[in-house]
Amino acid sequence: MSAPASATGCRDVPVLAERGQHEVFCGLTGIIWLHRKIQDAFFLVVGSRTCAHLLQSAAGVMIFAEPRFGTAILEETDLAGLADAQEELEREVDRLLSRRPDIRQLFLVGSCPSEVIKLDLSRAAERLSARHAPKVRVLNYSGSGIETTFTEGEDACLAAMVPALPETDRRQLILVGALPDVVEDQALDLLSKLGIEDVAVLPARHADSGLAIGPNTVFALTQPFLGGTLAALERRGARHIPAPFPFGEEGTTAWLTAVAREFGVDQAHFDAVTAAPRARAARAVAQAAEGLRDRSVFFFPDSQLEIPLARFLTRECGMRAIEVGAPYIHRAVVGPELDLLDRGPQLAEGQDVERQLDRCRDARPDLTVCGLGLANPLEAEGLATKWAIELVFTPVHFYEQAGDLAGLFSRPLRRRAALRLEAAE
Ligand code: SF4
Repeated sequence: MSAPASATGCRDVPVLAERGQHEVFCGLTGIIWLHRKIQDAFFLVVGSRTCAHLLQSAAGVMIFAEPRFGTAILEETDLAGLADAQEELEREVDRLLSRRPDIRQLFLVGSCPSEVIKLDLSRAAERLSARHAPKVRVLNYSGSGIETTFTEGEDACLAAMVPALPETDRRQLILVGALPDVVEDQALDLLSKLGIEDVAVLPARHADSGLAIGPNTVFALTQPFLGGTLAALERRGARHIPAPFPFGEEGTTAWLTAVAREFGVDQAHFDAVTAAPRARAARAVAQAAEGLRDRSVFFFPDSQLEIPLARFLTRECGMRAIEVGAPYIHRAVVGPELDLLDRGPQLAEGQDVERQLDRCRDARPDLTVCGLGLANPLEAEGLATKWAIELVFTPVHFYEQAGDLAGLFSRPLRRRAALRLEAAE
């Protein structure tokens, strides 16, 4: 049950710290997957028309009779009357909640405009919570592009939920991170087969799930962008189980190993439970990774998944990482990943987009993982790209998705090769 740390791992290598302009979506983007996950929640973005457009265009493909997100738009003129804006917001929430009895959790989500930043959303959330308790819990967090990159919206949302959770003394495991339901069910099934039964999930699908927290709670992150949530859980006395992330066969086994150790699962039982899905995952990765071997990859900082994915691509798919950029490197979170990642790639934290583009152009990687805004220009320059945002929307965790994860990276290379063939004919 051991995940061998490489003696040549990257935990102590120098990191290039970049503090320039960055090209990343804002934290509002998280609402697109969070509103599907938390089924009785409503996300009310307090923002501008830009914010409303972002949500509508990014999430507009989904059809709901009763949508579970909306935007309370503040106009420039509202600057003059902040007190009125505060009251108006609370009136809007009262109207929404009286019309929508299905809402059990309401998130007031802050954004960038200065008039929004000046509004005290935490006070509004407190007042509204007191008014609508116990039926509705009102919380707030910021999805502002000034304060958050796109996956940090989920981190801020989950961190906001933690202080409101009831206290428990139960010895339990919490899985932390919003996974697609089918993937979450697979993870719970594996843990149950290992004999770990008292398992809860944050975020829970419903407000009345019974999720509670206390000093006998241990938790494992399923996403590497949840540093704020980790700190909030520790403040409530829960203990983090550090582990690599469940990407690929090796990552999933290492993640399960860390959890199994915590709960005293014996090695023979662990092997018996994991042998078949491990073998399936290894086969699927080997097949999907054909075409990735010996190819180079360059990561722009975007989702905070970059370090675990670089580990997966280099160790399981045979790729060579040139640069691994991440918006933030939380060592408490990605330390075990850095131990596994072989030295060689330049690690970078933060972004100075023009300088990084220059490095990427010089290196001419076979595959560049980046945000939507950079992908098109780089494709036009002849570089194959993978949109980082797809990695958050697609089920990629745990054994059964390992082959699909490798496939996400091999597809752009195959597409480019096919285009070249067509052009040559
Ligand atoms: S929160 Fe800021 S970055 Fe995001 S859509 Fe609104 S204005 Fe734009």
